[in-house]
Amino acid sequence: MRFSKAFIPTQKEIRADATIPSHQLMLRAGLMRQLTAGVYVYLPLGYKAMLKAMEIVRQEMNAIGGQEFHLPALNPESLWIQTGRRDIPNFILSIKERDLVLAPTHEEVIAWIASLHIQSYKDLPQIWYQIQTKFRNEPRPRSGVLRGRQFIMKDSYSLDASWEGLDKSYDLHAEAYRNSFTRCGIKFFVVGASSGAMGGTGSQEFMVESPFGEDTVALCDQCGYAANLEIAASALPKAPRREENGPVVEVHTPNVRTIDQLAEFLKVPHERLAKSVVYRHNGSPVLIMMVGNDQLNESKLLSALGGGEASPMNAEDLKGLTGADGGSIGPVDLRGFRIIADKRLEGANGLISGANRNDYHLTNIDMQRDVTLEGYYDLRTVVAGEACTKCSSALKVSNAIELGHIFKLGTKYSEALNVSFLDEGGTAKPVIMGSYGIGIERIVACAIEQGHDANGIVWDKALAPYPVHVIAVNMNSKEVVLAANQVYNSLTGAGIEALFDDRASVSPGFKFKDADLLGMPFQVIVGEKGLKNGQFEIKRRKSGERMMIAKEELVATVEGLLRE
Ligand code: ATP
Ligand code: MG
Repeated sequence: MRFSKAFIPTQKEIRADATIPSHQLMLRAGLMRQLTAGVYVYLPLGYKAMLKAMEIVRQEMNAIGGQEFHLPALNPESLWIQTGRRDIPNFILSIKERDLVLAPTHEEVIAWIASLHIQSYKDLPQIWYQIQTKFRNEPRPRSGVLRGRQFIMKDSYSLDASWEGLDKSYDLHAEAYRNSFTRCGIKFFVVGASSGAMGGTGSQEFMVESPFGEDTVALCDQCGYAANLEIAASALPKAPRREENGPVVEVHTPNVRTIDQLAEFLKVPHERLAKSVVYRHNGSPVLIMMVGNDQLNESKLLSALGGGEASPMNAEDLKGLTGADGGSIGPVDLRGFRIIADKRLEGANGLISGANRNDYHLTNIDMQRDVTLEGYYDLRTVVAGEACTKCSSALKVSNAIELGHIFKLGTKYSEALNVSFLDEGGTAKPVIMGSYGIGIERIVACAIEQGHDANGIVWDKALAPYPVHVIAVNMNSKEVVLAANQVYNSLTGAGIEALFDDRASVSPGFKFKDADLLGMPFQVIVGEKGLKNGQFEIKRRKSGERMMIAKEELVATVEGLLRE
């Protein structure tokens, strides 16, 4: 591609809301523009990088036996009502005039097509995938293309006759994902993830460590334990059960509002304080008991409650129901609430919690004797430095960007949409499904997060829009123009994609700056000085290393560099 003819609108000034490197550089290097919140226009250079990512993913999906589909983005709303996903908050965008929705993912359509044609165990297993546009009603699109309301996903679905088959399809996907991200030149790690409200039996996320990630993960450098904070656990002592077990006593605790104030006022350790957190789950009040200052984890809470919608109860609502304020709520004789507790409180006694009367607390609460409990669940959020449950080393907590997600769905969708097959004995059974997603924009944005410096993007050759950037230094020199054209033609002739900066209107300094900003892995610099010795200069963008190459050796040298 000749730069003089190309549409590469680089820019210095960028939007103020572009605060992370990939967002800034995709704007500055002319890869994309924002049309409206969460909706992006991909310009030729940006789309080229995305196509390369898609091709790598496609090859790896084909390698595990995946068959490529193209499913419609427009879906009948009724299909989503059937699986109960129509009203998931912040999920579906819809076109009301026609009872259509814009698909945020495609389990429903896959199940629909499978229900028509999968009949026998002989039709299974299947791996079906597509690389296609998704729409989601993201409440806070930010961080550029990392979170769009419209984005491209590789989504695949496995259909199996047995749970062992599902395990196999899942493992194949894990392998395809590892290969894809490795080939894209991305440093990633894998964490255990929440199966949450989707009701599946296992899930893992492929993550890129980044301060700008919206996910938080717990990592053990010692034994390799890695989990999304949505499910991560740590080894912490339980609240104790003591020999002495007196009756519940109400104590006056004037102006005590927080757990720290309560510990201070009563001179007791935090382990004896049972904090009450109040939520509404699908409209109904729930009281959640936690130890001391332990933070309730909302994903764990939702899993414990079996999905649905949960949000903290507001102060007025709580006062109306109990007559007390947040700091004085407790589990004893609390009517109209479901009560669940964190596992650390299992079987404990001698606990202190609110008396459901302002400025009063109850002491000597016994979980077994005094609380009508639905159950104990792991509900707390792991904190950095806590001990790993596997090896006791201190856990690290980091932010990460989710690149991909693999998920053992089970039979939820096949049951909702009647996807069944006849097994060898002729019995009808629901097909066992898995679902697996990769965000294409996230691959490109993460590659830039990991590959950039003060001067611009540093592409890995796998995703670089062009592996080589040829720069004709001085377009006033006939020899330079002639030689640079020859370089460009011989590279393209050898099947090497090159961007050729043949602009006569800009200075050499400007071209060098642009070349560093655009970040192609190798720059071939054709200038008068080198030509005098029959040489071109090659600059490696990543290290800045430069080498002089004899004219005749250029193509072979570049081929060698690209094979590295
Ligand atoms: P997140 O937690 O970041 O919202 P998710 O759990 O909703 O992601 P999945 O439903 O598992 O994501 O979708 C599969 C993949 O699609 C994700 O791993 C991610 O790479 C990509 N993806 C999801 N939502 C978006 C989005 N709004 N913009 C860009 N890519 C996305
Ligand atoms: Mg999401």
